[in-house]
Amino acid sequence: MHRCRYILRGAVQGVGFRPFVYRLATSLGLTGWVLNSASGVTIEVEGGDSTLAEFGERLRTDLPPMSWISSCDESRVDPAGDSSFEIRHSEGGETEAVVLPDMATCADCRCEILDENDRRFLYPFTNCTNCGPRFSIITALPYDRPGTTMKEFTMCPDCREEYENPLDRRFHAQPNACPACGPHLELWDGRGTVLATRHEALLKTVHAIHDGQIAAVKGLGGFHLITRAYPDESVKRLRRRKMRPSKPFAVMAEDLESVLAFCRIGEIEKRLITSPEAPIVLLRRRTDTGGELISHSVAPHNPCLGVMLPYTPLHILLMEELGIPVVATSGNLSDEPICTDEHEALSRLGGIADIFLVHDRPIARHVDDSVLAVTGEREMMLRRARGYAPLPVHSEGMPPMIVAVGGHKKNTVAVTRKDQVFLSQHIGDMETAESIRAFQEVTGSLCDLYRIEPDIVVRDMHPDYVTSALATGYGKRILTVQHHYAHVLSCMTENGLDGPLLGVSWDGSGYGADGTIWGGEFLEVSADGSFERRAHFRLFPLPGAEKAVREPRRSAAGLLWEMSRGDPFGPSPSVREAFSDPERRILRGMLEKGFNSPLTSSAGRLFDAVASILGLHQRIDFEGQAAMAMEYLLEGVASGEPYSFGFKGNDSDPIVIDWEPMVTSVLADSRSGVSSREISMRFHNGLAECIIVVAKRTGASRVVLTGGCFQNRYLSRRAVDRLSEEGFEVHTHRLVPPNDGGLALGQAAAASFMPGIRDRRE
Ligand code: ZN
Ligand code: ZN
Ligand code: FE
Repeated sequence: MHRCRYILRGAVQGVGFRPFVYRLATSLGLTGWVLNSASGVTIEVEGGDSTLAEFGERLRTDLPPMSWISSCDESRVDPAGDSSFEIRHSEGGETEAVVLPDMATCADCRCEILDENDRRFLYPFTNCTNCGPRFSIITALPYDRPGTTMKEFTMCPDCREEYENPLDRRFHAQPNACPACGPHLELWDGRGTVLATRHEALLKTVHAIHDGQIAAVKGLGGFHLITRAYPDESVKRLRRRKMRPSKPFAVMAEDLESVLAFCRIGEIEKRLITSPEAPIVLLRRRTDTGGELISHSVAPHNPCLGVMLPYTPLHILLMEELGIPVVATSGNLSDEPICTDEHEALSRLGGIADIFLVHDRPIARHVDDSVLAVTGEREMMLRRARGYAPLPVHSEGMPPMIVAVGGHKKNTVAVTRKDQVFLSQHIGDMETAESIRAFQEVTGSLCDLYRIEPDIVVRDMHPDYVTSALATGYGKRILTVQHHYAHVLSCMTENGLDGPLLGVSWDGSGYGADGTIWGGEFLEVSADGSFERRAHFRLFPLPGAEKAVREPRRSAAGLLWEMSRGDPFGPSPSVREAFSDPERRILRGMLEKGFNSPLTSSAGRLFDAVASILGLHQRIDFEGQAAMAMEYLLEGVASGEPYSFGFKGNDSDPIVIDWEPMVTSVLADSRSGVSSREISMRFHNGLAECIIVVAKRTGASRVVLTGGCFQNRYLSRRAVDRLSEEGFEVHTHRLVPPNDGGLALGQAAAASFMPGIRDRRE
């Protein structure tokens, strides 16, 4: 007889791990015990040598679906001669456990709610240890029923029995519930009057949606606004009421088969959309069919569609009854955080939704749908929330007690514990009182959950970001980090990389270390984590500053003025026509005097400028719209000779990449009738070649691609392919977004490299 002790860390609590160990040990005839400890799970097993070996093997290979092991200490101890195997009571004390994200309904639960002989038939709050809500209902650790929003519901005897039986799928499933004891649905009108309850509420909602009404549906991590995806008129009504003229809406479809009726789907995309994380996945729309299912207005002028499958029993039942794909967009007004409370929904969504399908299981925190895309063979996170947050990013040597407050757009925050960074769910643009409140709630609750008392607070270098002011409210020591450097460190951290390497950091804008607006940066990060700006695009003025972000025509005028030093419109009829006579006079005056026209090296504004010259968009109503239009022109274009750029500067100075030869070619091509599609292809390919030239000149061997511009899937793929061809090792974002949603992770990493903090790292 021998005895082994295992100490396991990772996602091993609240995922059916102890029953799994119990079943495994008893099936092998081993004795001993398993218990949840402060750091994870501790196991002692006793038996014959070969059986113990098999146990050790299957402990790693047969894990329950939601669990993973980050570390496993195995040791031999003296045999104790137990007579059986048991699940022991948990030890108390400090917890190092990880909060799990919410997971989509598993196949077993799905069968139960669709089986009329099951006691959970049609019950929209069914779940088990393999699926269901976690992060969205947790109020405190350790993860136990009183620490969730299910604490008000007392389990009935049947549920209690499941909960206490180690062999049951619902053993210690904290949100366990059934129609007799759990939460229920209600259908409300706009004043909060109850129109129907339980399944009747769901059926009436289905009828209303079929009739073309807009339903606000309380889901897992917040409200969705749901309406028919066809015809155009119903989608346009939602756009008018939500004040969202053209930004794409996501779609929910019943199952994979119904998605195939309007989208094409690759193997990786199929795996993602059907995964327990169940994110929104960007899929290519079919052009041959599906027009009568999804109207043009769902994602105007967009060859892709964000699609998700039902991920809670409520959504499964709703989609079963509906039988048609629907628009399912965040329950909010423009870019505010998603609404989570039904009474709040009446006021915040009152002007948008006709009816409200609500329930009485409180949502502890808002968690939006995550969004992913696939480029080539790589997956790319675009918005990280449900299914992923708040899982930590492992970062060897990361000191604890750092809080990073992120940027201004697509804000997320990060807190650190030793060797781990917890990146929050997507919060949103920091432009409303609602966002600020959400920011404070998210930051406070992350610190509370993980018992972190912020010591060091990291913010962006931009003095006017709302988050810069908010940073003062947390911790004692405040550090500032340059925006594009944080982007590079974010990509390095998730890929587990150290310097030296070259970071290509391209986005719309960020506060530069020299007072100009950066955005087309090549930063070399050395082994000690410090950075040097090795190259950037030639500067040009942005007349109107912030206004230029919403008006690509201003980027174009600034660029053309910088080229000619006298005429901001001359060579481009579309830019000239984009302004009225008085506007042209004002603009020229501003440029001549340099008034309210900050200088920028932004790659994002370069996209805007070319889009304006091509007449694609002179004004936009959501971030990145013009650059997206440039990308969409590439559909079906096979190849294009890259436009040339100029390169100035020697090895000691930053290399200045001159876009003028490229713009001259764009103007000439567009005059001589070359198609915009071809021009766009040559532009994209030219940008990728800039990366090759700079990478070669700086002598880098490894390159990371980061910043919002790399959400452009063609640019990303082309840059990866070309760099690989040229023998560079290239890394991209997978776990966190390349956009400002990943900034907080990089900020935390930047802090860990700073003197004084660095010592704690080592
Ligand atoms: Zn389940
Ligand atoms: Zn029950
Ligand atoms: Fe950025």
